[in-house]
Amino acid sequence: MAKINLKALSKAAMEEFVKELGLPAYRAKQILHWIYEKKAETIEDITEFSKELRKRLSETAYISNLKLLRRQTSKDGTEKFLFGIEDAESIESVLIPDEDRHTLCISSQVGCAMSCGFCLTGGIGFKRNLKAHEIVDQIIAVSRVQSSKLKVESSESKIPSHPPLLKGGTGGITNIVFMGMGEPLLNLDEVVAALHRITEFMGFSKRKITLSTCGIAPKIAELYRRAPHVNLAVSLNAATDEVRNKLMSINKKYPIRVLLDACRKIHLSPRDRITFEYVMIDGMNDSLSDAKRLVALLRGIPSKVNLIPFNPFAESRFKRPSDNSILAFQEILVRGKIYTFIRKSKGQDILAACGQLKAGYTA
Ligand code: SAH
Repeated sequence: MAKINLKALSKAAMEEFVKELGLPAYRAKQILHWIYEKKAETIEDITEFSKELRKRLSETAYISNLKLLRRQTSKDGTEKFLFGIEDAESIESVLIPDEDRHTLCISSQVGCAMSCGFCLTGGIGFKRNLKAHEIVDQIIAVSRVQSSKLKVESSESKIPSHPPLLKGGTGGITNIVFMGMGEPLLNLDEVVAALHRITEFMGFSKRKITLSTCGIAPKIAELYRRAPHVNLAVSLNAATDEVRNKLMSINKKYPIRVLLDACRKIHLSPRDRITFEYVMIDGMNDSLSDAKRLVALLRGIPSKVNLIPFNPFAESRFKRPSDNSILAFQEILVRGKIYTFIRKSKGQDILAACGQLKAGYTA
């Protein structure tokens, strides 16, 4: 019989598992603690258990781990991790250090089916959905690396020998963003399960988690119904359907009005806002009339806007606008009373910035 992967179990399934082995119920809690807080890589690592108990558990179960294939460090400190998953596919996660925060950007799918023209991940196509444990394991693996416990398995990588950035249960990770490879709302079941585990098993605050979607309108309400209320980011990227259709084919299915209606309907707490991401592309969506239209579109939605200057990659046909155009665009939004910030593009030299992840696949 195939062994059970303890990392793939929900709380209820873990309780069932220990019950079937005839163990007391508190063992479930202990196993979860060892996997998610102590970051045990094997059952053998659970030293709180007697040798006999570990042996017994190992007969029927195991703990899966992402395989760290490559780790690259940008000159600005951003780190990109290439992980191998169980079926030989691979994914990337990016750790972005800033003054007071360390944000981990995680993937929800291998590749992406959305094929947005400005995004390199879109170019590799969709391979498969990640399982909840593969989503969560990116956090476990990176925090383990930050605590310098994980060995790199590939010979081509250069590992910087600096010490862990910060100490703590999550290896210093303060924020998590679902902004890596894939469209999280098209893998909703696994993403919901992952969000439960990140908040409940790892004790991560939902306020420090942001999920970004290209705008699968009907799934937005479903996310809010089923998952802890994390911050929502929506990749709007255009202020007219005409331009958005050109940039994101999902707009043909869920045009701007439908998407924004879905955003209006979710019940936000008084202090919360939806982040609208807007990739700025030269001559495409960066005019001052676009900025004015954006102000009008967002009226009535508690929102903030995140302008992301386009990050180039080989063969991309787009260009980033000049700093002056970006600032002029921002000024119109600010005058329209929309809190607007420009995202610093980090890790461009190692293809770790937004839209640059391809995990070794050929785009
Ligand atoms: N599929 C989700 C999660 C990916 S988040 C989504 O679309 O929101 C990635 C963010 O980076 C999105 O806001 C996307 O619009 C942006 N992006 C993609 N390619 C980019 C590029 N080349 N330059 C800058 N931002 C890009």
